[in-house]
Amino acid sequence: MAFTHPVSRPSLDGRELEYVTDAVSGGWISSQGPYVQRFEEAFAAWNGVAHGVACSSGTAALTLALRALGIGPGDEVIVPEFTMVASAWAVTYTGATPVFVDCGDDLNIDVSRIEEKITPRTRAIMPVHIYGRRCDMDAVMDIAHQYNLRVVEDSAEAHGVRPVGDIACYSLFANKIITAGEGGICLTEDPRLAQQLAHLRAMAFTRDHSFLHKKLAYNFRMTAMQGAVALAQVERLDDILAARREIEARYDAGLKDVPGITLMPARDVLWMYDLRAERREELRAHLDARGVETRLFFKPMSRQPGYLDPVWPTLNAHRFSEDGLYLPTHTGLTAADQEYITGAVREFYTGG
Ligand SMILES: *Cc1c(COP(=O)(O)O)cnc(C)c1O
Repeated sequence: MAFTHPVSRPSLDGRELEYVTDAVSGGWISSQGPYVQRFEEAFAAWNGVAHGVACSSGTAALTLALRALGIGPGDEVIVPEFTMVASAWAVTYTGATPVFVDCGDDLNIDVSRIEEKITPRTRAIMPVHIYGRRCDMDAVMDIAHQYNLRVVEDSAEAHGVRPVGDIACYSLFANKIITAGEGGICLTEDPRLAQQLAHLRAMAFTRDHSFLHKKLAYNFRMTAMQGAVALAQVERLDDILAARREIEARYDAGLKDVPGITLMPARDVLWMYDLRAERREELRAHLDARGVETRLFFKPMSRQPGYLDPVWPTLNAHRFSEDGLYLPTHTGLTAADQEYITGAVREFYTGG
């Protein structure tokens, strides 16, 4: 069904079309040509990081990051309970085992509970900046140094949060803060890791194209057409983040005294405007009937069939998944749109 107010809508009114047209007219439709590299350089520079390696999705970026760090069968990686399943799947794809840690009140990994999950097999921590809220990275990096662990940041929902881990991974899916339709990118300071990421992304080809492949790798390349869109998006990243900050402030103001709604802590960058709602299913039906799309919070990883663990009903992540939802959040959302949406929420709880 088509919503008047969809939960997400890409904003493509910069030079996206111009760059794609240029890429296609130049014959650059594979990963060759200038656009992928220009995007990698622009996004790395924006973040003040030395190297960017673009790829086909956020999930691919996470998988490449773990593989570049040498993580595989027999290893364990600390992953939050409250995240999108791709964080855990990337670990499973490498043959390693995700070990889950519950979330705190900001939905991010509860750093005070990481150490109890560390074993002699633990190799890395994957903090996820959920809905654009930065994890306590000082605490994560302290634990990583103390136990000699690597840190892979899942920044799929947090373009604009400065990376500090060994590798930070971003998604460029259509509903993310910036997009290429599909796509992803890894950022790292380490030139050897950057070289490994690029090698694993492109089937571990050797320079001489001898067709001898020394390791199991992937075709996770980004196309020039995706690179063209992504470059145009990076050029607008400051404006996009500023527009989203205003959207967050307007939702806060419009919802702060609505009974039945609990606002969530402020975000560092706004991906999706999340909140907790009494009688959530009835609210969703009410909004649905008024053309306003909503989405539920993630479910705990321990509730996923592939990772089922009977502890799941006791988790904070479960408690949040029971009454959390997010409202339409995209760069083009206007003040009038938000007035309509918050008005519909208020109407549900106050009858007018
Ligand atoms: C979107 C997302 C991913 C996966 O990114 P894709 O580009 O869809 O593969 C991974 N982790 C989190 C937290 C996400 O929100």
